[in-house]
Amino acid sequence: MMLLSSRVKGIQDSITMKLNEKAIALGEEGKPVYNLSGGQLPIKPPAEFMEKIHHELNFLKSYQYAPVAGFPVLRKKFMKHIATQRKISLELLESEFDCIISNGSKHSIYNSLGALLDPGDEVVLFAPYWVSYPEMIKFWGGQAVVIRSNVYDAFVPAFEDLERAMTPRTKVIILNSPNNPSGVHYSDKWMKEFVEFLHRHPDVIVISDEVYSELNYFDPAPTYFYQHDQELLKRTVIVHSISKSLASTGLRVGYAIAPKNAVTAMSRIQGQTTSGASSLIQRSLIDVDLLATEHFLTPVKTHLRKNASLLREKFREGNLSHCWYQSLSAFYFLLDFSRAPMFERFSQIEGDHSVAITEEILQMEGIVMVPGTDFGVPNSARLTLTIEEVPFAEAISKLVKYLNRSK
Ligand code: PLP
Repeated sequence: MMLLSSRVKGIQDSITMKLNEKAIALGEEGKPVYNLSGGQLPIKPPAEFMEKIHHELNFLKSYQYAPVAGFPVLRKKFMKHIATQRKISLELLESEFDCIISNGSKHSIYNSLGALLDPGDEVVLFAPYWVSYPEMIKFWGGQAVVIRSNVYDAFVPAFEDLERAMTPRTKVIILNSPNNPSGVHYSDKWMKEFVEFLHRHPDVIVISDEVYSELNYFDPAPTYFYQHDQELLKRTVIVHSISKSLASTGLRVGYAIAPKNAVTAMSRIQGQTTSGASSLIQRSLIDVDLLATEHFLTPVKTHLRKNASLLREKFREGNLSHCWYQSLSAFYFLLDFSRAPMFERFSQIEGDHSVAITEEILQMEGIVMVPGTDFGVPNSARLTLTIEEVPFAEAISKLVKYLNRSK
């Protein structure tokens, strides 16, 4: 046994792995298993992109080191894409900002936190939050400050709570809209209020994790605070990725757009750790029409809309509307157990029963979900809307039955 660092001892393992192992074991026993735990689209990337990868396989440069911050033409292309999509000034981006391409946007967020945090700095997170934020903050010596929200407000955080969480040590707020795991995005009204909030707190930096921005299946489409005041870009790190928009989680390409000095600092971290992201994939992306992803995602969004509607109907029929809220984007729904009849059995003992409940659901109904513990929401679980309609309907019917079970 090696003596491990205290830093690594503080980092949590993922519960999902354990549940997946159980699901595989149940499947091997011949029991039907509904895997609603997925965090990726179950489809291949656009054909045009796959052809480009195929073509780039022929060139020596595809196998050699990429520049640390990424190929300049691709960095420019990503900046142009964001400027077009968000209707913000490309001139402003090109003059004062830069883009760094990393090994997935998880890596971009990790580098951003490394570039921004000193030990003890506070980072505000809105629960439900993506599981990796608290661990990455911890790794860089920062302190996560969590703001709660609930199912009645469709998991949208309140400004009074945000205001209360601010201290002189608050350095960063991580905003993730559309949100993993709730599948909601914050309204334009919320974003305008956030602008006012940021004006009252002129030193706070925002990391805006926008990896699901294209995956919006119910109107209105997501908007961002800096669209209302582009001056705020000067204290914003925009994070994006091809993982969700091009169904390419395994290719590991994400990026961050930030003021030049922050990108330089992130490049320094990247240069001494992983080096640049895959040359093959970056080169293949150079001529891909990113706006054409709109068409690629159309059938995906139709499917998400159908499954989201099916979920609403099944909950309504099962008298569980009070456990439901409208998801709009990304491909998740966060199920709050605490007001379902089955929760009576658990409510005698205070605390978070997410893991015990998801284990029981797996055992009894063969449904795999991700417990809400790691998302910062007790007594909840995340399910994905991506699976095919028929098994999805079967799984939700079983889930509704389970939720209504009082014994
Ligand atoms: N941000 C959010 C909210 C996510 O859900 C994910 C992945 O699930 C990521 C970032 C990281 O994605 P990637 O590193 O594949 O770009």
